[in-house]
Amino acid sequence: MTSADLHDLARILPPERIVTSSDQLESLSRDFYWYSPVLKRDLSDRLAEAVVQPTTRAEVVALASFAHGRRIPITLRGAGTGNYGQCIPTHGGLVMDLAALDTIHSISPDGVAHCDPAARLGAIERVARQSGWELRCYPSTYVKATVAGFCAGGSGGIGSIQWGALRENGTVHALSVLSLEAEPREVRLEGRDIFQVLHAWGTNGIILGVELRLAPRTDWGQVAVAFDGFASAYDFCEAISRNDSFRKRLATVFEWPLPSSFTPLQKWVPQGKALCFFEVADDQLQRLADAARNAGGDPCFIAPFTEPRRGAQLSDYTWNHTTLWALRQDPSLTYLQCGFSPTEARSQFRALKGRYGGDFLLHIEFVRSGGVITPGAIPVVRYTDDARLQEMIDFCGGIGVSVANPHVNFLEGSGRWRPDDAKRLAKERYDPLGLLNPGKMRDFKAANESSEPARAMAA
Ligand SMILES: Cc1cc2nc3c(=O)[nH]c(=O)nc-3n(C[C@H](O)[C@H](O)[C@H](O)COP(=O)(O)OP(=O)(O)OC[C@H]3O[C@@H](n4cnc5c(N)ncnc54)[C@H](O)[C@@H]3O)c2cc1C
Repeated sequence: MTSADLHDLARILPPERIVTSSDQLESLSRDFYWYSPVLKRDLSDRLAEAVVQPTTRAEVVALASFAHGRRIPITLRGAGTGNYGQCIPTHGGLVMDLAALDTIHSISPDGVAHCDPAARLGAIERVARQSGWELRCYPSTYVKATVAGFCAGGSGGIGSIQWGALRENGTVHALSVLSLEAEPREVRLEGRDIFQVLHAWGTNGIILGVELRLAPRTDWGQVAVAFDGFASAYDFCEAISRNDSFRKRLATVFEWPLPSSFTPLQKWVPQGKALCFFEVADDQLQRLADAARNAGGDPCFIAPFTEPRRGAQLSDYTWNHTTLWALRQDPSLTYLQCGFSPTEARSQFRALKGRYGGDFLLHIEFVRSGGVITPGAIPVVRYTDDARLQEMIDFCGGIGVSVANPHVNFLEGSGRWRPDDAKRLAKERYDPLGLLNPGKMRDFKAANESSEPARAMAA
């Protein structure tokens, strides 16, 4: 960006919402990419040249038109809790911090939340519950994470045991997307059209509005169950996950020593044991505790529903929070994102433990995938070098365990690419110059045949 560009931005935003101080540029150009030693090494020097902080839709439109006219890359930012350097501006330019566009407009009587892009998922949950609804699924970062950041960067979480991933079952009812053109257009996508921009890392449109389908509100209680070994913990968690008579929001299994890193829980976490964490309907807590005892487990933590939430929240230790706790204890650890086979998981676990032992620690999140209860996993693994990490990924593939690689910084490599080419075609329509989050959608070539943003070509 030139100093003239910076100067002219002041026609759109007041100076206090054009950030250029180096410490703020650094913090607003980062996410949780450092979970990956590979991305930490490769992306640490990437910074925005300025961060712009619009507070109205009109300002977003003006900024989009401005960036298009000057050929300036724009990287969108919600709360910056993503894990893959998704919102790191690898080509400089502007970061557009949308945090102030956080209004929840309404919860319609048929259970759809109508939100601005940076409405916090925790706030949507709170407001929805007041009218008898709740989120179908949310990431463990829900307090901070924004709804558009979840749609553009996330995949699922607490609730996915019942409702599947965010992309399933019509949970994202509609998205409003702004194009990056001389005269930006707002387009409403519904039905299968949402797949054009869902999980596209903000590469092919600025999400300006989200309509999320909700679930009827349930009062959730929490139970942790300890077992002597991982095998019996897994058997129990799988049985409960498959038992539809239990209403569930969370079904997680951890191999020891992962629970040893959950520092605030150590007063009741038994040493050396595998743990299952559940959220079940409050009136089923005792039934679940009895089932656990019958299976040889110890229900070591039982917390009935409270509103607002009080005390330990087991979900704060699940999904990618598990990795965070483990990393705090041992910075040489990192993680993978795996899909085990619903029928062959036990032999896959044996193969992995036989080969890697304590360097591959099992952390399973049961999800409903395409209607089938499936052991999703975010194993915590030891990093020694890139070659060994890749060898682990290849070994997983060889035994039928899918890996969405969290150590790459482009969409096609991260395992959630769509074979129908919908995202790339949407980029041609809504970002023809390739200015949105450039470098992250490698299949795309801008109109002038460059895979780099047009501005870089011109320079
Ligand atoms: C401890 C921890 C636990 C996590 N657990 C989960 C989990 O359980 N499930 C899960 O799915 N993820 C999880 N994540 C990842 C992340 O927290 C979620 O995906 C979250 O929803 C991202 O929201 P955000 O507002 O922070 O997005 P950001 O990180 O700000 O952005 C994510 C992506 O969305 C794009 N984006 C942001 N706003 C817009 C917009 N308005 N229009 C278009 N693109 C936009 C960004 O450019 C970026 O590519 C976890 C991360 C951490 C650090």
